[in-house]
Amino acid sequence: MPTDIEIAQAATLRKILPLAAERLGIPEDALVPYGHYKAKISLPHLQQLAERPQQGHLVLVTAISPTPPGEGKTTTTVGLGDGLSHIGKKAMICLREPSLGPCFGMKGGAAGGGYAQVVPMEDINLHFTGDFHAIALANNLLAALLDNHIHHGNALGLDVRRISWRRVVDMNDRALRQITVALGGPGNGYPREDGFDIVVASEVMAILCLADSLADLKQRLGNIVVGYTADKRAITARDLKADGAMAALLKDAMSPNLVQTLEGTPAFVHGGPFANIAHGCNSLMATRAALKLADYVVTEAGFGADLGAEKFIDIKCRKGGLKPACAVIVATVRALKHHGGGAAQPALQALQSGLANLRRHIENVQEHYGLPAIVSINRFDSDSAEEIALIEACCTDLGVRCVLASHWAEGGAGAAALAEAVVQQCENAPGTPRFLYDDAEPLEAKISAVARKIYRADSVAFEPRAAQQLKDLNAQGWGHLPVCIAKTQYSFSSDASLLGAPIGHVLRVRELRLNAGAGFVTAICGDIMTMPGLPKVPAAERIGLDDQGRIHGLF
Ligand code: ADP
Ligand code: MG
Repeated sequence: MPTDIEIAQAATLRKILPLAAERLGIPEDALVPYGHYKAKISLPHLQQLAERPQQGHLVLVTAISPTPPGEGKTTTTVGLGDGLSHIGKKAMICLREPSLGPCFGMKGGAAGGGYAQVVPMEDINLHFTGDFHAIALANNLLAALLDNHIHHGNALGLDVRRISWRRVVDMNDRALRQITVALGGPGNGYPREDGFDIVVASEVMAILCLADSLADLKQRLGNIVVGYTADKRAITARDLKADGAMAALLKDAMSPNLVQTLEGTPAFVHGGPFANIAHGCNSLMATRAALKLADYVVTEAGFGADLGAEKFIDIKCRKGGLKPACAVIVATVRALKHHGGGAAQPALQALQSGLANLRRHIENVQEHYGLPAIVSINRFDSDSAEEIALIEACCTDLGVRCVLASHWAEGGAGAAALAEAVVQQCENAPGTPRFLYDDAEPLEAKISAVARKIYRADSVAFEPRAAQQLKDLNAQGWGHLPVCIAKTQYSFSSDASLLGAPIGHVLRVRELRLNAGAGFVTAICGDIMTMPGLPKVPAAERIGLDDQGRIHGLF
């Protein structure tokens, strides 16, 4: 089997303008082309789409708790989109944009895999249409204006020890996690502690993903709290008069990007937080537009169903009024064995024990999110018939539909059975999504609801700093916001080493961060970092460019 990038480079792509006209009925002048194969939907056309009634069913693709390389959610999202096209349905895909951090770090590209990819994959994985650069600049403009304000007299009275706004870069760079800025004398400002997060963890990213119009974008940018005065009064981006210029930088980034799969299914790839440290879904604007353009819209929420799916429901669907019809839970033999003790156990025994992880995700999706679940086994060449049969038997016991999918090797035809199962579910028995908590509940109760119901923790422990922040946030009137829990993706708990379906653990909250513009409070748990590091042998070492301008090694 050729590599992902070899498959993508061998593909013949259709020009995006005729493809959009033919598959989606989008007129040429409603698209702003970025070269031949990428285009942004114009904002006036998006406004026109907003007036149309919704025609599409929304299908969420989520997964069991993954291993580091990922279990194939993006690959399945693309494969299912192609599978739906293959059986004659009008389908669209909505994905988040890849981040350069994992691209050069451990995980590699994020445009799908094998014969289920969105293309042009090099562009999508690298600079694409520049959205992340715009987001980073808008974020860092606010940081520059903030330090400049302090330098020029600090009329707003910001306490330099209480600044919460951080700088960002789209790179895994642990050296920037905690830094000191403005060294070198009075001409360089007031020295203070600062730090960088990865772009996908920026509140500006979350705002771009959740805003439903330019007016909403401006409002949310203005609401960003950058820090506090000595008497703990919040100072906003609006106070610094930063919101207008930030919005100007984000104008083009707000338009969803249209690309295609290897089989010509249209896909929006727009916005891109990680679901471990951020809320983890593509933009609301893209999902809403897709639901007006297609009959079936397949979207991915990052990592396991404890993280991405929970935030998809409790943050994105809550804000955007979206009603997903069902959820596809991607499972792999590889990850299930890993959850059951890995190579230390005989293969079938490990798989049998590891199924506890799948069972709990199914239960959560059905009982707590209110969505019918369809399990999709992402087939690997190394899977044995006995292993597949064991997963199928587990699903049969639970009365859950389970489909073997081979889109990675075969493209849309390999996901035809999955597509049929999804269509039947959407047509005959769509779910009614439920939130885990009400807006009116206090922050502590919301965090506890996620921890107890989804993670099956016994309790939540706030470290001293987080306990103080909780008190302050409640006192300042932010208790009504939903919560975005940042924790490891490898376990239901906040401890990456607790595999399978752990119980009796404690969710350890280290820090709370107010995202007043995005409209949630992030609870940082366990050892999770908002600026990842590179592994000992980063993927970047294998990536290169030949003398003809061809990129290689990008998975
Ligand atoms: P996720 O979205 O769950 O993180 P991805 O869909 O990005 O996972 O897949 C991660 C990697 O695994 C990709 O490089 C992809 O090519 C590879 N992959 C996915 N499915 C398969 C499969 N069935 N067989 C072999 N490799 C696969
Ligand atoms: Mg993915």
